[in-house]
Amino acid sequence: MAAITAAEQGVGQVCVLEGTPEPLQKVRISGGGRCNVTHACWDPRELATHYPRGSRPLRGPFSRFACGDAIAWFDEHGLTLVEEPDGRMFPQQNSSEAVIQCLQNAAKASRVQLRTRAMAQQVSLHPQGGFQIDGRGLEKPLRAHKLMLATGGHPSGRKMAEALGHRVVPPVPSLFSLSLQGRELAACSGIAIDDVSLDLKLDDQRFRQIGRVLITHRGLSGPATLRLSAFAARALHQSGYQGELKVDWSAGLGHQQVQQRLQRWRQEQARRTLAAAKPFEHLPRRLWQAFLVMAGVDGNLRWADLPLKAERQLVENLCAQRLSIKGRGPFGEEFVTAGGVDLGEVNLATMESRRCPGLYLAGELLDVDGVTGGFNFQACWSGGWLAGQAIAASAAVD
Ligand SMILES: Cc1cc2nc3c(=O)[nH]c(=O)nc-3n(C[C@H](O)[C@H](O)[C@H](O)COP(=O)(O)OP(=O)(O)OC[C@H]3O[C@@H](n4cnc5c(N)ncnc54)[C@H](O)[C@@H]3O)c2cc1C
Repeated sequence: MAAITAAEQGVGQVCVLEGTPEPLQKVRISGGGRCNVTHACWDPRELATHYPRGSRPLRGPFSRFACGDAIAWFDEHGLTLVEEPDGRMFPQQNSSEAVIQCLQNAAKASRVQLRTRAMAQQVSLHPQGGFQIDGRGLEKPLRAHKLMLATGGHPSGRKMAEALGHRVVPPVPSLFSLSLQGRELAACSGIAIDDVSLDLKLDDQRFRQIGRVLITHRGLSGPATLRLSAFAARALHQSGYQGELKVDWSAGLGHQQVQQRLQRWRQEQARRTLAAAKPFEHLPRRLWQAFLVMAGVDGNLRWADLPLKAERQLVENLCAQRLSIKGRGPFGEEFVTAGGVDLGEVNLATMESRRCPGLYLAGELLDVDGVTGGFNFQACWSGGWLAGQAIAASAAVD
């Protein structure tokens, strides 16, 4: 985005160095191969709330280039984005390949030079101004008047930024599923359920999320879990990914209403079995049966015979089930790194480094990350566009 924007604004020679044989590989695998390009969130302040790291500082960049601008930018470059009911936006073709094609066509049309298998390893200030770049796949060191680092989560970018005097916040994973100690939910693997409330307490910090949860054979995943992992990424890392999670499966009914419902069922469904007469419509049958097992009660028992102790246990498990987290699951659908170059080191109006004039930084390399839903790419488009504009403006003055 930065390279195309700078070139379209008249910068004569723009060159992208890509360490691998092909650029945009993360775009290719993103969003399950569909690429969730952005999120239909029109208010820059509201948009910024979806970033566990960078929330306040991002308000500035988003006030200049946010979701609407990204949609318009892609539209002007031949790619229509379509909104899904939950606000996520995908290419009309429903394939990440279309996004790659769009960016590659735009780069070609604006004469951006792409050099693949060119891995920058060292950046230094050139004695006559600008930068010198050394690396693998470069026959000789390159010289650049302006330089942009957008190396994603790759450690080389953080190393080069650090060597140029920037403070780097240590990277930790974000957006992951949670592995649980007990196996009580394992039989429900594959079930997704809405309006689940997750409450995680780690030392004196508390993290809460409400939304869709997916039960996996190792623990919990789904949007609400991934959001929780993002906001609690640092605290969970510090705790060694151990902690106690309180889960409310009652879809907001709460203790009193859950108890009343069970008592009503005891009378109205007295002759039917606990397993057959499910009292909560929103709970899938397999999950309700698992709750009966957890309460130590036989599903073949009739409602009239439900012991009081089991009733109390059912209320407790449905409204405030305590589950021990034993670790981090494998990478979530949208794995990103929390941490990176401290945002205080960058002028967020231009993405230019405050330490090193002429150097620009954007994307995942920065200590910015969003929750799932297209927010991570949005921060990249915004930062890239701002940097491209600023590079073009300063090149015109030079
Ligand atoms: C499986 C998966 C799915 C995702 N799905 C989505 C999604 O649908 N929506 C969303 O918003 N976000 C998604 N994300 C997150 C999103 O992909 C990242 O936030 C985004 O790609 C970061 O962009 P970037 O340009 O900063 O870094 P990258 O996309 O990682 O690009 C950096 C590029 O720089 C190259 N590079 C690195 N170091 C060097 C070097 N020293 N020299 C030369 N080249 C170098 C790399 O090879 C890479 O091509 C997903 C992530 C993953 C892993």
